[in-house]
Amino acid sequence: MRKPLIAGNWKMNGSLALLARFDEALADGGPGDGVDVALITPFPYLVPALQTFRERAVGIGAQTLNPAADGALTGEVSGAMLKDCGVQYVLAGHSERRTLFGESDREVRQQVAAALQHELTPILCVGETLEQRDADRVEEVVLSQVAAVLDTLEPGERQRVIIAYEPVWAIGTGRTATPEQAQAVHALIRQRLAEYDSTLASRMRLLYGGSMKPDNAAELLAQPDIDGGLIGGASLKPDDFLSICYAA
Ligand code: 13P
Repeated sequence: MRKPLIAGNWKMNGSLALLARFDEALADGGPGDGVDVALITPFPYLVPALQTFRERAVGIGAQTLNPAADGALTGEVSGAMLKDCGVQYVLAGHSERRTLFGESDREVRQQVAAALQHELTPILCVGETLEQRDADRVEEVVLSQVAAVLDTLEPGERQRVIIAYEPVWAIGTGRTATPEQAQAVHALIRQRLAEYDSTLASRMRLLYGGSMKPDNAAELLAQPDIDGGLIGGASLKPDDFLSICYAA
């Protein structure tokens, strides 16, 4: 069976004080072995987070990387650096990166390849805009974002990827996809994975993201093809985030 993963994406939020509050909130041991928990923090907090959670089962992830090995790329961070510091996960293709920073499928593919090369677990983010949903293009858009990356990987590499379905219209809007809407897209993604390999389809973890909160998490996470959550706003409140972890 697929072990659920609840990953909190802090985006450009958070502080050392917030890390300390998470540490306190996890003092009783946290949600236990039944669920993987991760915090995806801004770059400056990665190392403090790794130190804070050294003794706890909390994976740490970065929000992006530059696929180049090294060089004159002021402001960028490579996969090798993330690995060197002990980071475990990295997001690739978050809709904010695609929209606000113009990242194309090609760049997202390079990021996933670089993550895999450095033994990081990439969380590939896909999702349609409201306009695309209204034009009945959900399947086309989401599956082409999936294929743009997975088509170029070797079978062994594909197995190490996690996909997060994040409908753009549900991100930070308080407007969550219904469990049925989310499940329908997750099922489509899983069917597409089966075209590569049925074992891949049954094993890959598919997360839902978009206004997941304590009061809607259980219902979303109960869907057969939803294996966890990528949590934005609610990951800035330790109690809310942990109650989502307990719901998984
Ligand atoms: P919200 O949970 O704030 O809607 O953000 C979702 C998200 O983008 C996580 O990556």
